[in-house]
Amino acid sequence: NGGGNGRQPHARARRVLMFPLPFQGHINPMLQLADVLHGRGLAVTILHYTGFRNTLDPALRPEFGFVAVPDGVPADVVASGNVVSMIVAMNTTMEASVAFRDVLAAELGLAGERMPRAACLFVDSSLFGAQKAAEELGLPTIALRTGSAACFNCILAYPMLHQNGYLPPEESQLDMPVKELPPLRVRDLFLSSRADHDMLSKFLAKATHAARSYSALVLNTFEALETDELEKIRDEIGIAMVLATGPLHRLSSKTEDTAGRSSNVLPHEDHTCIEWLDTQITGSVLYVSVGSLACMDSGELSEVAWGLANSGQPFLWVVRQDLVPGSDGPCLPKGFDDMVMGRGRVTPWAPQQEVLAHRAVGGFWTHNGWNSTLESVAEGCPMICRPQFADQMMNARYVDAVWGIGFELEGELERNKIGEAILKLMKGSEGEAMRKRAGELKKKVASCFESGGSSLLAINELIDHVSSL
Ligand code: UDP
Repeated sequence: NGGGNGRQPHARARRVLMFPLPFQGHINPMLQLADVLHGRGLAVTILHYTGFRNTLDPALRPEFGFVAVPDGVPADVVASGNVVSMIVAMNTTMEASVAFRDVLAAELGLAGERMPRAACLFVDSSLFGAQKAAEELGLPTIALRTGSAACFNCILAYPMLHQNGYLPPEESQLDMPVKELPPLRVRDLFLSSRADHDMLSKFLAKATHAARSYSALVLNTFEALETDELEKIRDEIGIAMVLATGPLHRLSSKTEDTAGRSSNVLPHEDHTCIEWLDTQITGSVLYVSVGSLACMDSGELSEVAWGLANSGQPFLWVVRQDLVPGSDGPCLPKGFDDMVMGRGRVTPWAPQQEVLAHRAVGGFWTHNGWNSTLESVAEGCPMICRPQFADQMMNARYVDAVWGIGFELEGELERNKIGEAILKLMKGSEGEAMRKRAGELKKKVASCFESGGSSLLAINELIDHVSSL
């Protein structure tokens, strides 16, 4: 067992078990949801894998119980860094062995004097293998989808996409529109290489099958942002409760250092960059970050550095220690500091939500992980999109073609092109129009949490549902 207060006598009447996928972009929203449920009087026990890069740090949430779960992922698969293979192995292990079921059974056995009864298991929707064990033990499962509603629709549509010849993708078809899922093009789909295609198809088919028998489905999005996409899910999935409760980070009462940094391997957030932002002109700074997983090679790093330096625009750039794989650490080009002369700031890990909310930040160069996209939407910050894998391309497409709050920087990274993109966003009239639209969306986010707001109502409905289990 991983610590926390899980073995103390408990004043709370009901408990929820929560099982996140061990990646930053999945851990954060699950913890944010846990904070909300805890704030509403439920006891929380987090089940977690410990053998991964982004393992959870129980010290960051002393109010929760933590229970370690054996993952069964072979060391070579972890070392490969192939996220899909890792997730497939986690689910295969849960389906094939009783280890996870035993952990659940032990937790359920604690109900009584020392622990409140567990009402349900919240599981990341990619850990669908957990559902079978929960079902066998009579424990209802509620899934949290940490991606967009559009992305889930795409997963539901995977068999059709395959049948209609969009997948596996052909190089020559990448710009072809997917007329069944506008405005997506083949390049925006949840793709894999041809080699991984079978594995991904089987994985998504199982995830979709499991999704139809959850007790409820919670999505980290909001009604006004993805109205049609949510309606489509409700039409297709056949479960009564599909709740859009996002952006969850806006509901969690935790301070940034525990909400943003949930892992004990990522560096502490550099709060000195906020002091630096305090000295900058309102709306002048471009924030640059590619999240916790995306990488670049040393040539690309150098082009980004010179693009930022040459643009003349103030910037705050997150350069993770592992940003350039295979190196001893990222190496910025010689002469970069002299060229920048204090106009820019480089940091290993920023308090992102606080950065995006800062008055000095006027734009975000992002990889379009869903959390980053949603955090930017919540602060009305327009984006330069540079997606790399998984759902990032689709998120970027929505930012550009649906919400009109950013544009994609396509093709090879090249310093002059980068400089032009930065000026387009930060100084140009197109950028200004995007900023205006982003400001309108920000207001819609705020209204989600006002009395009668859609996300607040969804949270209330969720709490009522959990209380009824
Ligand atoms: N993040 C952060 N500081 C950084 C970079 C990222 O706190 O310097 C957080 C960010 O706020 C977001 C998460 O890390 O909540 C990244 O999730 P996302 O889904 O955007 O991308 P992923 O890391 O999963 O690719």
